[in-house]
Amino acid sequence: MDARVDGYVKHPSGGVRVSVSKGDGSKFQMSGSLLVGADGIHSAVRAQMYPNQAPIHWGGAIMWRGTVKAKPLRTESSFIGLGTDKHRMVIYPISAPDENGLSLINWIAEVTVDSSEGWQQEGWFREVQLKEFAHHFDDFVYDWLNVPEMLQAADCAYENPMIDRDPVTSWVDGPVALMGDAAHAMYPTGSNGASQSIIDARIIGAKLLEHGIGSEALVAYNAELCEPVSQLVLRNRGAGPFGLLNLVAERCGGIFDDIDEVISPSERRDFMAKYKQAAGFAKDSLNSAPSTIQHKY
Ligand SMILES: Cc1cc2nc3c(=O)[nH]c(=O)nc-3n(C[C@H](O)[C@H](O)[C@H](O)COP(=O)(O)OP(=O)(O)OC[C@H]3O[C@@H](n4cnc5c(N)ncnc54)[C@H](O)[C@@H]3O)c2cc1C
Repeated sequence: MDARVDGYVKHPSGGVRVSVSKGDGSKFQMSGSLLVGADGIHSAVRAQMYPNQAPIHWGGAIMWRGTVKAKPLRTESSFIGLGTDKHRMVIYPISAPDENGLSLINWIAEVTVDSSEGWQQEGWFREVQLKEFAHHFDDFVYDWLNVPEMLQAADCAYENPMIDRDPVTSWVDGPVALMGDAAHAMYPTGSNGASQSIIDARIIGAKLLEHGIGSEALVAYNAELCEPVSQLVLRNRGAGPFGLLNLVAERCGGIFDDIDEVISPSERRDFMAKYKQAAGFAKDSLNSAPSTIQHKY
């Protein structure tokens, strides 16, 4: 639409007026009952709601991401995490194998560096050359996977520092609400930024059906999600599900013949169950929960 929200004014009698700029420099205003700011980590709506908010937070982790055509590993749909939360590779297929048995594989290479000087690059996203980062993974060579070779075959590589924002105490200002990254930009440690945004939209929809189109619905949305999701943002600054890899590194330096002797199956299961429960990914409770919005046929 080539248009950006610049800000909003709450009507004293209810509703909200929104100022919008178009790419050609023209500006216009629109009025409505509600404004939902889904404008991402650099949200203009959030900046107005919290003019003194802290700058974007970077804790030292840098991710390099790309894709490669390769044979999918293990079960052909396995999600593979290697290393520790400070120095790791994550690898998983994003297409079914083709007639030659090759899938498009997504890979993420990550290291954590000293962040005391702050992020020194211009911007938060750029294409990079392999030689800028591949050396961190020269030792990731196994009889079932050769990471340096996999990286050499990659189509492209992009660099993203892992960033989020400090949580805020409320996502709602009268008839205005934040959702998605505007509300809770988080480290993608548990692969849950976009999925949480979808849950936000479903809950807002359910609350609008329950309370009607007005601030009351936004208050109910905020009451249900703001605090637990803010806790998730902080929890994702830790190791998340990769804490399991840290345990393996601590106990045996990552070298073992039988993983069950390092971490028993029940300890592994319990560890993952706790993370999934906290992040809302627990399969059984998800499957047994009623639909957020009941379908009406
Ligand atoms: C490297 C990386 C890996 C990730 N991996 C995962 C993952 O595996 N799983 C997962 O669930 N999530 C992941 N995420 C997080 C996920 O990408 C985000 O949580 C998700 O995109 C948030 O969606 P959103 O719609 O809130 O914001 P965005 O996707 O940022 O969309 C915001 C939109 O608002 C528009 N906009 C911006 N400013 C304005 C304005 N002033 N007015 C109007 N429009 C505006 C933008 O153009 C954009 O279209 C990852 C993120 C990164 C950076």
